Amino acid sequence: MHSPKEAIEGCLFPLTVPVAELCPRCSKTGFGEDFFCPICSGYGRIQSERKFSLSIPPRVKHGTKIRLSMEDIGLRNVYLNVMVSIDPSLEEKGLKGGE
Ligand SMILES: [Zn+2]
Repeated sequence: MHSPKEAIEGCLFPLTVPVAELCPRCSKTGFGEDFFCPICSGYGRIQSERKFSLSIPPRVKHGTKIRLSMEDIGLRNVYLNVMVSIDPSLEEKGLKGGE
């Protein structure tokens, strides 16, 4: 859980995204030394996950959508829309200081 203070000052939000990766043992053939690769059961791909750090800009407002490009994992033109949700009263409090 991230504190309202972090939402106001900006922070890095860790995200885990499930991805299918090529099997490290047999790659895409699905055949290892044995008949079927024991790691991927012959699919040639394994379920894996990648960790991202989503950077939340300072003074982010309630309802802001943040786009995260996933090009680093080979997904082009895929963006994650993250909706920021902040208690409106806390948002006001945080915005008093600057601007
Ligand atoms: Zn395999």
